[in-house]
Formats: sequence, structure tokens, C-alpha cells
Amino acid sequence: MKNSEQNTMEAQHINDLIVQAPVAISFLRGHELIIESANEHMLELWRRQHDIIGQPLAVAMAGHDKQTYVKLLYDVYKSHHIHYGYETKVWLNRNDRDNLFYFDFVYKPVKDAANNVTGVMIIATEVTKQVVARQLLEDAEERLRLAIEATGIGTWDLDMEEDVIFTSPTLIEMMGLDPEEKVTRQQMYDIVHPDDKLIVSRALEEAIKTGIYLYEARIIWPDGSVHWVKTRGKVIYNEQHKPLRMLGTTNDITERKQDEIMKNDFIAMASHELKTPLTSLKAYIQLLLASAKKRSDTFYISALEKSERQINKMTRLIHGFLDLSKIESGRLRLNTQDFDINTLINEVIADSMPAAPGHNIVFNAGSPIYIKADKEKISQVLGNLINNAVKYSASGSTITLTAKTEVESLRVGIKDQGIGLKPKDQQKIFQRFFRVDDENTRGQSGFGIGLYLSAEIIKLHHGSIGVESEEGKGSEFYFLLPLQG
Ligand code: ADP
Repeated sequence: MKNSEQNTMEAQHINDLIVQAPVAISFLRGHELIIESANEHMLELWRRQHDIIGQPLAVAMAGHDKQTYVKLLYDVYKSHHIHYGYETKVWLNRNDRDNLFYFDFVYKPVKDAANNVTGVMIIATEVTKQVVARQLLEDAEERLRLAIEATGIGTWDLDMEEDVIFTSPTLIEMMGLDPEEKVTRQQMYDIVHPDDKLIVSRALEEAIKTGIYLYEARIIWPDGSVHWVKTRGKVIYNEQHKPLRMLGTTNDITERKQDEIMKNDFIAMASHELKTPLTSLKAYIQLLLASAKKRSDTFYISALEKSERQINKMTRLIHGFLDLSKIESGRLRLNTQDFDINTLINEVIADSMPAAPGHNIVFNAGSPIYIKADKEKISQVLGNLINNAVKYSASGSTITLTAKTEVESLRVGIKDQGIGLKPKDQQKIFQRFFRVDDENTRGQSGFGIGLYLSAEIIKLHHGSIGVESEEGKGSEFYFLLPLQG
């Protein structure tokens, strides 16, 4: 093939490519910017027909509102500098309607082998879809931001790698500062009440493990006033489960917290006052019981034993209320000692037996497992869990307890054959005052604090508590406690 034929074929190929390309393309030659080629897309953008091919750009665009555009292209030719235009607005008539479209443009000077500029290449890509999608997203974000601001909830976004926090103006206001101010994470931690700093740092440790950040704490404003805030957040991890970001909200709960504090103080005071008469009542009943037993008076023995069981129930309830108020005010302290869990389980079972005459409570103790924990509080947790197993399963069914070591933990399980729990309730039962309300539980009295207290006690021991359950089949409540190395 001759050279000239080859050149013609190549030019034809390039021309085909330009005509068929999904973007608008044109080549303008020489200092007059003669329109050498322009595909359909480009003609549509210019609102011109094929007859402009071969004309200088200024002539083709004469009498049009495109003079600045023409000048820009001449400048590119003269200056030899490439020019980019992003998301440029263009009105186009498509489907008989004028609509706004968006294009990214490149005007590139084209050079020959001797590095002389021979013309300008124009390439325009339509980006309308991307621009509209982004605008919709920005609008939605703005609406959401306005809605959140209107609720008075502060929002924040923590970059956990760089330790940089982005905060909404409402959050800054909630800290008693000027909403325009920028704060660091350290500043946010510094204003936490000294007595609540541990709560906040523990919540962060927990968040890194579980992905959920949740705490209520006091903060001190620059004017010295104390305010309660509740913070919730969610951790975002990378594929290696490394925490990257945490997003969350904070709201001012001062008022609600003050009400709660007053209510707790009242409950604590009333419970405390009830403790003394109840203790003496129990002593008198035990005295009477001893005397009835001496006389072998079966009627009195049975009536007094029932009374003692009711008093024990009331005592447990009152202790529960007292513990609740201690937890709420962060005053629940552990008194740890070394003891064998198997012995304790047997003791708690023996104490629970009289209140569960129809149930079969089974525990096969293995060799002793020593743990360092608050014996009285762990016995309270066991008592609560056994008590619930009895309460929420039919008389005649079996309750099985197990205690075993697992890696670095002790696992204690309390399994019943009772009513079981729906998956949605399983997540809530450890919350304060939560009770399942359906036909199976309606006859059972309670306050919904036993599991909450048990969970708090186990948390204070750095352990964990949970439940595995199937509705209608039964539940296994379990807790894990760390074993010393
Ligand atoms: P209470 O029993 O006083 O209501 P708890 O905090 O001990 O309070 O328990 C909370 C709720 O969890 C109960 O109301 C009950 O609905 C459910 N629950 C607890 N233990 C069991 C169990 N073993 N089987 C089924 N449901 C249970």
C-alpha cells in the first residue's frame, strides 16, 4: 500500500472514531480555528448543522452568545496551555424541550512533530447524571442536617486513625461554647466531670470491642455549671476489623436526669427505711418457726415457712432497688475474694429450692474452679437467674446449671425448659425496667430490674452476660467471668 493511501485510511479511521465516540469531539485547525471535524454530539452542543464544517470557528459561531467561548479557544491556541472546564452548564434542546445539562470540557492544543501548535482538540463529556445525583445527595444531607439541628441533638464524626473530630454547631453549644468554635477530642474529654471520666473511657473501650458507643455522663461548662449528656455512636471498621471512624449523636438530658436522680433518691431512701423493719420481721418469724418446729405444729410450720419465703422475696427486691440506685450514681463497688464457684452455685441452689418445690434443679459440680470476684454479688446474679428460670418455666420441668472453664474465662450457664424469648426481646431484656409483655408473662409480677442488675454486676467484673433462647422451647442465660492468669 502506498503511503498516501495509508494516510487516507488512517484519517478515515480517526474520522469514524470521532463520529461514533460517545463524547462530543471536534478538531479546529490553524490560527483561524477552522472546524475540521465535529461529531453529532458536538454539533448538538453548539446548536449547529454539518454545514459549519470547514468554516472558521468565529464565523460558525457568529451572532451567537458564544463569543467568550470562541475567545477561550483562541487563547488556548495562542498560549499553548490546556484548559479544563468542569460541570459547565449547557442548555440543550432534547425531545423538543430545553433542559439544563452538565459537561466536563478539555481544550487541548495539538502540536506537530516540530512542536508547533497546529490546532485545538475539544472533548466534552456529559456528567449531568453524576451532577444531579450529587446535588440530590447534598440536598438530602442538608435536609437531614436541618432536621437534626431542629431536634437539638448534636452530631459528631471521629476519625479514629488521625484522632480528629468534626462536630455540629449544636454539639458545641451543648458544651457551653460558641457554636462557631472548633474543639479537639481532648477538649471534649477534658470537660467531662472528673467522677465520670472512667465511664467515658470504659465506654470507648467497649465501643472498640462491640462497635456500639453509649454512655451518660456529666460535663462541666466554662461557667462551672454541670450538665448531663447522653452519647451514642457506631464504630466503622476496615476489612481487618481495625476501627476507622465513629459517628454519633449527643443530647442534653439534664432535665430528665435530674428527675431520675430525684426518683432514685426516693427509691433508695424508701428501700433503706424498709430494710430495718423487714430484718426484725424475719427474725421474729424465724423465732416462731423454731418454736413451731419444737412443737411439731405442722400448720404453723407450713404457714411460717411460707411467710419467710415472702419476706426473702421482699428482701431481695429491696436489695435490688438499693443496688439500682447505687449503680445509677456509680456507687456500686466490688468486694472481691477468691472462692470456688461450684460451692457457691450449690449454696444458691439450696437457698432457691424452697421457692421452687415443683422444679428439678440439676447441677453436676466438677473439680473446684477458683475465681476472684465479689462473692455476694455473684450469688445475687445466680439467684436472679435461677429465680427467673423457675418463674418463666412450668412446674415439673428441669433447670440445669453448668460451670466450666473456657480459654481464659469461667462460663456459668442456667438453662430452663420454659417459655423462651423472641429474638427481638433477647436484645432488650438486659435493659433497665424492660419486661416482655405477652400472654405468657402477664401473670408474673416483677419490675424488670433483675437482669439489668445482673448485667451491671457482671460488667463491673469485666465479664459478659448473654442469653440463647428459642421461643416456646426454653432459654439458657450465661455469664462469663475472666479467670486470673
Ligand atoms: P422481672 O423478672 O422482674 O420482670 P428481669 O430483669 O429479671 O425482671 O427479667 C426481665 C424480663 O426478661 C422478664 O420480664 C421476662 O420477660 C424475661 N425473662 C427473664 N428471664 C427469663 C427466662 N428464663 N425465660 C424467659 N423470659 C425471661
